[in-house]
Amino acid sequence: MSVRFYNTLSRQIEDFSPREEGKVKMYTCGPTVYDRAHIGNFRTFLFADLLRRYLKYRGYDVYSVMNITDVDDRIIRGANSEHTELRTYTDPWIQKFFNDLNLLGIEPADLYPRASDHIPDMVNLVKKLAERGHAYKVDGDYYFKVESMPAYGEFARLDMSALRVGERVQDDKYEKEDIRDFALWKGYCEEDGNIFWDTDIGRGRPGWHIECSAMSLKYLGEDFDIHAGGVDLVFPHHQNEIAQSESATGKRLARFWMHGEFLLVDGAKMSKSLGNFYTLQDLMDRGWKPREIRYALMAGHYRQQLNFTFTGMEAARAALERIDCCLQNLRCAHGGHGPSETAAALKEHEAAFTAAMDDDLNFPLALASIFNLIRDLNILCTENKIGTTEATMILDTLKRLDSVLGFLHIDKAQETDSEIDSLVCARDEARRTKNWAEADRIRKLLSDMSIVVEDRTGGSVWRRK
Ligand code: AMP
Ligand code: ZN
Repeated sequence: MSVRFYNTLSRQIEDFSPREEGKVKMYTCGPTVYDRAHIGNFRTFLFADLLRRYLKYRGYDVYSVMNITDVDDRIIRGANSEHTELRTYTDPWIQKFFNDLNLLGIEPADLYPRASDHIPDMVNLVKKLAERGHAYKVDGDYYFKVESMPAYGEFARLDMSALRVGERVQDDKYEKEDIRDFALWKGYCEEDGNIFWDTDIGRGRPGWHIECSAMSLKYLGEDFDIHAGGVDLVFPHHQNEIAQSESATGKRLARFWMHGEFLLVDGAKMSKSLGNFYTLQDLMDRGWKPREIRYALMAGHYRQQLNFTFTGMEAARAALERIDCCLQNLRCAHGGHGPSETAAALKEHEAAFTAAMDDDLNFPLALASIFNLIRDLNILCTENKIGTTEATMILDTLKRLDSVLGFLHIDKAQETDSEIDSLVCARDEARRTKNWAEADRIRKLLSDMSIVVEDRTGGSVWRRK
């Protein structure tokens, strides 16, 4: 069975096959670095992480590129208001972004190209579009001529007839031939202060859309496999990327376009402009662990909106505690003689996990199979059917699954601590000899060390609070 994804291009679920067998080249639109990213942004980056991790799990060699938008109106305004260079302004935001990615367990992309490092590539693309009759110049600005691309609007399913085609537009700053045309290059104006590039097409700076066209072309070629981003990027950003890249190359930009739905707060999109957002740090300051945040943001299907609530965070915490408990049970499993039952449970639930994920990354269903596995493992544990052979088998499977999930934290759960282990053993011994005072004394000692002890048949297990 092959992997199937919903392709925004066709608005259908399609069998996925990359251009080159076994290899996937993907591009994800990255952050605009003028502020700290919020967890809505991270929902989209976690979706891209899940996609990439799952393709790897399915044996593909994945090469992924995520751009950093470090040139844009808000950034230029921000840098000028602080009287700093562009880089001095954006560097700390980029650092914070990488730091948050790391905390959330998002695997790094292979490349993070910055727009400001690729101005010559963008200028060349604008020149090429102008040579081919797809771009024109008004004063210092360059615009994409939408009329030159009959298929414009198909990707975003736009009703082009509703737009007043051919109407000349003039606003405070830009003058263009047609209301549909969009800026490729913005000529220098005073508000840009010290932020500009002197190039073959004049002094100025690139438009946002041309940044992604130039960088994806440079690093992934003219026709790559997956282009991903948040659903708000379908129009205008991705429609315009398609217009630019395909008009310049004559080739299809990407085979699959995949879009993650919004994270909402009280029914509205989480966004900077509405002020209804939380950053990762905000949630950590409230006592939530990055792992719990990762789980909560991943738990919904990527194509469905997800409402952010603290009840959802509580549910994430409880789910992870169930997983941790099971992992602790395994660490302390003293039984044995259940290899075939264990192998059957592992096989059944991993197959269900894979089938769900193959079906357009149906993560909620895949997660259900993880909890079915946890339930079965707990039963096998209680029945004393798990010994070291079985535990090794289980850990191998869980590690493979965690290459996709990224929140099981198996090594941490498997960690041993000889001091705690010997205290737990001493307590078990005290209980066996009915020395309750001693058993209570040790439990109190462990509790002071933030260790919780649970009594199981075959021995106690411990975990950190
Ligand atoms: P930006 O930094 O504004 O360029 O956005 C980075 C990414 O976050 C884009 O792919 C957006 O589509 C995505 N994004 C922004 N707001 C949300 C949200 N509330 N939920 C999910 N994704 C979002
Ligand atoms: Zn982009």
